[in-house]
Amino acid sequence: MDKISQRIKKVVVVGGGTAGWMSAALMQRILGTQIEIELVESEDIGTVGVGEATIPPIRHVNAVLGVNEAEFIRETKATIKLGIRFENWKNLGDSYYHTFGESGQNHAFCQFHHYWLRAEKLGFNTNYWDYDLNYLASVRGVFSNQRAKDPSWDLPYAYHFDSALYGQFLRKISETRGVKRTEGLIEHVVIDSDTGFVSQLKLQDGTDVNGDFFIDCSGMKGLLIQKKLGVGFDDWSHWLPCDKAIFVPSKRHEKTHPYTRSIAHQAGWQWCIPLQHRNGNGLVFSSNHYSDDQATQLLLDNLETPALGDPKIIPFRTGRARKQWHRNVCSVGLSSGFLEPLESTSIYLIQSAIVRLIKLFPHEGVTDELVDEYNAQSKNEFELIRDFIILHYHVNERTDSQFWRDRRSMEVPEHLQNKLQLFKANGQLVQDQIDIFKDPSWLQVMLGQGITPKDHHPLANAPSDQQLVEMLTKIIAHKRAPLDRLPEHDTFLSTLCEGQ
Ligand code: FAD
Repeated sequence: MDKISQRIKKVVVVGGGTAGWMSAALMQRILGTQIEIELVESEDIGTVGVGEATIPPIRHVNAVLGVNEAEFIRETKATIKLGIRFENWKNLGDSYYHTFGESGQNHAFCQFHHYWLRAEKLGFNTNYWDYDLNYLASVRGVFSNQRAKDPSWDLPYAYHFDSALYGQFLRKISETRGVKRTEGLIEHVVIDSDTGFVSQLKLQDGTDVNGDFFIDCSGMKGLLIQKKLGVGFDDWSHWLPCDKAIFVPSKRHEKTHPYTRSIAHQAGWQWCIPLQHRNGNGLVFSSNHYSDDQATQLLLDNLETPALGDPKIIPFRTGRARKQWHRNVCSVGLSSGFLEPLESTSIYLIQSAIVRLIKLFPHEGVTDELVDEYNAQSKNEFELIRDFIILHYHVNERTDSQFWRDRRSMEVPEHLQNKLQLFKANGQLVQDQIDIFKDPSWLQVMLGQGITPKDHHPLANAPSDQQLVEMLTKIIAHKRAPLDRLPEHDTFLSTLCEGQ
């Protein structure tokens, strides 16, 4: 593609799910004075309607959009998420947390876990997570968003929310600020024969929607990026063989906990997401191991509260569009690829894609350089998240099913293999810059899934045995100190929403 397309004056967003409305809202906020934005969606097709757990960067979206937190929490029936509790992942009956916090205090060259590892060898055995306030607050069910006087008492957090209400929330913001919404079913996508670029959408009711640039947020089918432009798909199901999800809402808990539960079963896993008005539940499973009926029964048998409707099934394919941006079409959301929601990354990937597109926005026309850079960064980002998800499956000690034995014995991507070897040898972690999961996340999952490094960093040998024990005892006490002053999670929510 040597040819430079024309200047981009109008962007058309195809689809009105989370991807479509988040793209429209962010583009409008940042580029709205320079470009016109029109979003086309079909109520007859509808949206996926799941996607209820997030990670902390969602708060940047709110900040950029200028959203009031109390209004957001009230309108989307949100609760706070401090992390995920993984149950039965390492072995039946075991559990650990992957929180958004960090254990202990880091020395400039030596991460806290090296001291903890050395103490373990001395026989000073403590739970690694006892040094992490996010964990302590999760277990006690308390939370505050106030900035603490000591930064090590801050609680990094995200939200659980009702995805349908979140879509409406973003739609309201976008439309108020000038995004044009067009209702209608897209029947044909027209390509300009000179440039090969998409130029127009033809709707069932006879309306034509023209644009200079198209953001494909049409969901898993990828109406433009796959169906029209046929960019191909990198299939990762040999590493992540779950290919269906079944989900159902259930009655809310009397007391909501500020974390997601992820419970591994014999060939898949179940999520439990507490919202203000109901629980979100689902089972991600491998159709080679469970029939739809078996999966439905498994989910219904394991609900914490009575179901509030009939379960729905969604098949999916794990992997990514080979070119997430091609010609004048950039795919965002499910059309760009899918990774199971084990670490709640899909909405983050929408945010990241649109921020990347805004940074590389082709104001003066699409060029190879912009497209190649975008695609290289997206590929890297998707692959790192993929590896993080594979880690949960691969490092396990379960012997109760072939599914888990196969995950353990499978060959994993080389980059992940190297990361694992390094950590096993001496507890070192290497941070990939573009990876949204930083060292504390990798560390918690590696330790939680059962890896104990053979050695620790020599700097952790500097304190005497007694100094080390005193240091760790002090850190635990320091991390616990604010707990009694934090309000219950539900009290925090009601106070925030009522005080608005
Ligand atoms: P969709 O919601 O499918 O929207 C597609 C849009 O395109 C719709 O508006 C539709 O009307 C429109 N459309 C399609 N074809 C046409 C046409 N021909 N004409 C007009 N309009 C059309 N993410 C998280 O971050 N956290 C989670 O906990 C999480 N859980 C998930 C659980 C499951 C089981 C699944 C499948 C996904 C989960 N996700 C999660 C992902 C999250 O749901 C999606 O990333 C998010 O909803 C974005 O979807 P989307 O907007 O790309 O697609």
